[in-house]
Amino acid sequence: MDPYKQCQLPERVGRLKELGYNLWWSWHPEARALFKEIDRSLWRTTYHNPALLLQKSLPRLQELAQDEGFLSRYDAVMRTFDEHMEDQYTWFARKYPQAKGRIAYFSAEFGVHNSLRIYSGGLGILAGDHCKTASDLGVPLVGVGFMYPQGYVQQRISVDGWQQNVYEQVDWGASPIRPVLTPSGERRLMHFQLGPLDLQVLLWEIVVGRVNLYLMDTHVEGNSPEDREISGRLYGGDRTMRLRQEILLGIGGMRLLRALGIAAEHYHINEGHSAFMFLEQARELVAQGKSFADAAREVAGRSVFTTHTPVEAGHDVFSEGLIVEYFESYASELGLTQEQFLELGRVPGQTGWNMTALALKMASRRNGVSKRHGIVSRHMWSKLWPDKKEEEVPISHVTNGVHLATWVQQELGWTFFQHLGRDWPEKQDDPAVWAQVMAIPDEELWRVHMRNKEELFKLLRERARDRWISRNAEASQVLTQGALLDPSALTIGFARRFAGYKRATLILRDLARLKSLLLDHWRPIQLVFAGKSHPADDSGKALIQQIYQLAKDPAFGGRVVFVEDYDMHVARYFVQGCDLWLNNPRAPLEACGTSGIKAAVNGVPSLSILDGWWEEGHNGANGWAIGAPGGRGEGEAADEADAEDIYRTLASQIVPLFYDRGHDGIPHGWIKVMKESIRSVAPRFCGQRMVKDYVRMFYGNEQAAPVRSAVKVA
Ligand SMILES: *Cc1c(COP(=O)(O)O)cnc(C)c1O
Repeated sequence: MDPYKQCQLPERVGRLKELGYNLWWSWHPEARALFKEIDRSLWRTTYHNPALLLQKSLPRLQELAQDEGFLSRYDAVMRTFDEHMEDQYTWFARKYPQAKGRIAYFSAEFGVHNSLRIYSGGLGILAGDHCKTASDLGVPLVGVGFMYPQGYVQQRISVDGWQQNVYEQVDWGASPIRPVLTPSGERRLMHFQLGPLDLQVLLWEIVVGRVNLYLMDTHVEGNSPEDREISGRLYGGDRTMRLRQEILLGIGGMRLLRALGIAAEHYHINEGHSAFMFLEQARELVAQGKSFADAAREVAGRSVFTTHTPVEAGHDVFSEGLIVEYFESYASELGLTQEQFLELGRVPGQTGWNMTALALKMASRRNGVSKRHGIVSRHMWSKLWPDKKEEEVPISHVTNGVHLATWVQQELGWTFFQHLGRDWPEKQDDPAVWAQVMAIPDEELWRVHMRNKEELFKLLRERARDRWISRNAEASQVLTQGALLDPSALTIGFARRFAGYKRATLILRDLARLKSLLLDHWRPIQLVFAGKSHPADDSGKALIQQIYQLAKDPAFGGRVVFVEDYDMHVARYFVQGCDLWLNNPRAPLEACGTSGIKAAVNGVPSLSILDGWWEEGHNGANGWAIGAPGGRGEGEAADEADAEDIYRTLASQIVPLFYDRGHDGIPHGWIKVMKESIRSVAPRFCGQRMVKDYVRMFYGNEQAAPVRSAVKVA
C-alpha cells in the first residue's frame, strides 16, 4: 500500500530511504554521490530517481552495508542531513524570533525534481526553488498543490516535426512522494463538497528539506470518472474542468490545511489559480459571526499574491454563469448576494470572472516578478483602482531568483568553494563574495565549462541513440537530436515553452544569413532548441515544426538541433553546457524569465531582449542586449529590428570574441564576460535574495502600512 514502507533496506543503511524521500538530497552533491555510488548506470537510466533506485538495488545494498568506505560516506551525509533538519539557528530564526506561524504557499505546480512531473515550466520551477530556498533559510513554509497522476504532457516529435502529446500514468510508487497516512496507517482521504462537487480527495506529501508539500489527488476509487479527471493532468481539460481544479486547489487546499491541523500566519498564492483560497478564509470568518467586509480585511492582512504574466491569455477568466453554477450557495454563506459575489471577480469594462482580479482584490500584498513586470502590472490592473494614478496602483515587485544549489553545476560549485570560500552558498546574496570570481584562473573556468559542454553533448547523443534503438527513428531524426554537434563550435541554447510571444523562430527570419553563420568554416555556430508547446496550442506546435525542418535539412549541416521533451533534467544540462543563452520574447511580455539566470550563474552569458530580469541584470559587460527597454512593440517591423540586432551582434561581437584565442587556445576575452556574468548575476538573482525579499516585504510583519483590502461591497 505504501511502497515507502514496503521497501526494506539493510538496517545499517536504512536511512537511505528517508534521505531518498526528502528532496534535500537533490541539491547536496555529497548525497547525490551516495546514490550514484549505489548503481551508476541505474542512477543515470532512472534520471536520478532515488525511490526507484533503492527499490531495484537491494542485493547491491546488502553489499554496501558491509563496505566501510561507503558507510563512512553514508554516515557523513546523514550527519549533514540531520544538522540541516535540526538546525535551530537558521537565518529566519535569528531574524524573526517573534514569528508565530507558518507561511502557506499555494501553487498549481511545483517543479522540485524531475522525478516528480507535476510542473510544466517556469512557474512551477520558481515554486520549487522558493521551497528549497525557504528550507535553506529556515523559513517555515508549507506548500499546497496537486498531485497529477498523469503529470504534465510528455513530448515526442513525429517524423514530420509535429509534437505528439503523450500522457502516461506516472508510477507514484516509484517516485519520492508518499501518501499522507492516518494514525492507524491508512491512506488519508478528505471529503470535499462545494455546490455540485462532491468527491473524495487523496492526500500526498513531498518533503523538500524542512518544507513539506501537501498535494491533492482525485484519482480515487468511488469518484466519478469526471471527478477523477480533476487532478488528472496539469493544464488539461476544458473551462469547466479548469474551474473545478481551481475550486479544489484554493478551497480544498484551505480545507486540507485545516484537516491536517496546520495553522499559517501568512498565505501566499503563486499565480491566480489558487485565489478561491481567500474566499474560503473569508467564509470561515463569516461563519464565526464576522461581516464579509471585516472578514475580507482580515484575510487581506495575511495574504500575498504574486502575479506572473502580462499576457492576457495567461489570466483565467470564467463565465459568470459557470461561477454561479458552483457558487450559488457559497455566496450566501459569505453573506453576499449573487451580484455582490460576482463583483469580486469582475474587472471594470470586461466580462466574466477573472481569477487575477479576485486575487488582487483579496490580498493586501501584491507583486509582479521583475521591475518591468511591476510597471506593466500596475498599468494592466489600474482599472481596479480607478481613483489612483497608475504609479500608485498597489502592486510592487520582487524579481525572481533561482536556487543556486539546484542549478549551478556541481564541479563549478566546487570551484566556487575554492575561490569564494566554503560558505558561498550561505552568503550567496553578498556581492563581495562573488567579486572573487574574477580571481578564478581562466584555464580552470574554461576547463569546467568545456566539460559541462561535453556532458550536454553526451546527454544529447545518448538520447538520440536510445531513440535510434528503440523507436524506429529515421536517420535524419537522429541527427535532429544533436548527433552531429561539434564541441568546439559556439553553441547557442534556446529552451523554453513554445508560446507565441517567446518568438522561438525569430532567428530563422533570414535563413541565408543564419546559414552563413552556422556554416562558417572557421567560426561556426550551432543552435540547440528545446521546449514543449501547450498540448492544445497548434500555433506553438507549428513553430516547433519549422525548427525541426531545419534540423532535418542537410543544408544546415546538423548545426540546428531540436531536443525532445524539455524538462528539468534537460534544462540543467542546457543551462550548464551551452556557450550562450538566447532569449528573444516580445517585450514587455516576459514577466521575468529565469532560464537566463540559471545560465548566467553557470558562466553562460545571455544574448537577450531587454525585458524581465535582463533589463535589470544587463550591465554592458555581462552579456548582450537586444532591443530597447519596454520593447519595440508588436508587428513585423519590431520583429525585423530585433532579428537584425541578433544577427548583427552575433556577427560583429559575439562570434569574434568567442573565437579570439590566446596562444594557450583559451578565449580570455570571452571568459571575462563569463566571469562578469557570474559575478554580477549570482548575488542579485539568487533564490536567497528573492526569498529574503518576500520575507522582509511580506512575511516578516515589517510592513507598517495599514492593511487595505480592495474589496468594496456595494
Ligand atoms: C527554468 C525553466 C523554465 C523557465 O524558463 P524561462 O526562461 O522563464 O522561460 C522552463 N522550463 C524548465 C524545464 C526550466 O528549467
